[in-house]
Amino acid sequence: MRSARDIARAVAAREITAESVTRESLGVIDRDNARLNAFTQVFHDFALAQARRVDADIASGKPAGPLAGVPIALKDNICLSHGKTTCASRLLEHYHSPFDATAARKLIDAGAVIVGKANLDEYAMGSSTEHSIFGPTRNPHDLSRVPGGSSGGSAAAVAGGMVPIAIGSDTGGSIRQPAAFCGLVGVKPTYGRVSRFGLVAYASSLDQIGPLARDCADAALVLDVLCGKDEHDATSADLPGPNALGTLDEPVPELVLGVPTQAWSPANHAGVTSALKNTIAACQKLGAKIVDIDLPLSDYAVAAYYIVAPAEASSNLARFDGVRYGRRAQGTKDLTDMLCKSRREGFGPEVRKRIMLGTHVLSSGYYDAYYTTALKVRRRVKDDFDTAFRAGCHAVLMPTTPGPAFMIGEKIGDALAMYMEDVYTVGINLAGLPALSIPAGSVAADGDGGGAVTLPIGVQLVGQPFEESELMRIARMLECSREYAAGRAGGV
Ligand code: GLN
Repeated sequence: MRSARDIARAVAAREITAESVTRESLGVIDRDNARLNAFTQVFHDFALAQARRVDADIASGKPAGPLAGVPIALKDNICLSHGKTTCASRLLEHYHSPFDATAARKLIDAGAVIVGKANLDEYAMGSSTEHSIFGPTRNPHDLSRVPGGSSGGSAAAVAGGMVPIAIGSDTGGSIRQPAAFCGLVGVKPTYGRVSRFGLVAYASSLDQIGPLARDCADAALVLDVLCGKDEHDATSADLPGPNALGTLDEPVPELVLGVPTQAWSPANHAGVTSALKNTIAACQKLGAKIVDIDLPLSDYAVAAYYIVAPAEASSNLARFDGVRYGRRAQGTKDLTDMLCKSRREGFGPEVRKRIMLGTHVLSSGYYDAYYTTALKVRRRVKDDFDTAFRAGCHAVLMPTTPGPAFMIGEKIGDALAMYMEDVYTVGINLAGLPALSIPAGSVAADGDGGGAVTLPIGVQLVGQPFEESELMRIARMLECSREYAAGRAGGV
């Protein structure tokens, strides 16, 4: 499938129709979704109707939107008034949103065609897309492996060639980690950059919506559409858009990148460490200065995140009770019985665990010991990044994940192993900073049926608040550098 830029340009120039592009995308989805399980729903008629509207508008002389005719997959925790918004949960299995999320509306207004909803871990809680009532999504690079999570359906849809762009949400890594596992570019904007209105809240002080794409330019194109102040989200920032696409090819003069000591953890897969080394070498060839930095509090980021995020989730998910929202249990004795049974039947085990954990850390006897302490750690995690930026770093470079995509079933029974997947990503959400993952190499591994496969590795760039365009320019320099491209092609 062509790039989003190329589709939008060709549709605007009437070289191709949005309808033909949409049919092509739906054709790949119909052929491959049974294998990948990337989509929870596919909107054949709705997508074709959207595409025909785009074509008719262009034919009538209306200006084409920046995403004219671009097929897009929307993570199924982002509200759309068409179809269902399930969050991959039994509780919301039949939920129809009465409105569109601001992000979805902006995409449609820009001419994009929403072809379906992408699979996820229930309520975006997870790192593997295995916690879903629709079953696990599979990694297109090796069907026996996870695509990452929680935006695993979004990542598999792009990596599987079904759509050029998918939208995910990132509370602790859920855009960047699947992007790394599937060989994509995934961008988590600064907290407040993109409206969260209509994103089913997991942890409201951490959640952000962002794009997954095959390259930086496509990601920048979509980021520019998504950003902006929204009167429905009081935390959205009233700032001019990043103009990430317009500035993408401008070099960053005298680039300084900080690499934290913590990036060299002995727990890393060897392929991750060599991908980081290759990336550093490529940056140096580009003239960048690499400085060692220290993010000492990042050792505590996972612990703090798994207090703050469940605490907020326990409050956010209180509304899913079979009364205000969600499926109601049948044959219950009284109100308490109805509430308890609806929630017990509706939520999967990981979600139940987090609600209990969150309720516990917020309870009066434990609030200070856990929640207040976690908030203090959160502040100091941010201070560590601020120190690096004050010392002159444009961005921080580090791995996205400690290893490549793992096998389906490998970590599902070991919560700590699963949570450690987030070691490089959660601190950035705690600090509210923008970050992206770009492909940085690959490793050979045993695949489905014993054959050898090549698994992508990602590296992460973390920027200063609202400096998405600079971050994307750095990523673009890397993407273009020949040495780096050779590293990608040749493996690590
Ligand atoms: N893996 C993390 C978690 O399970 C992050 C999820 C996310 O970013 N939505 O909470």
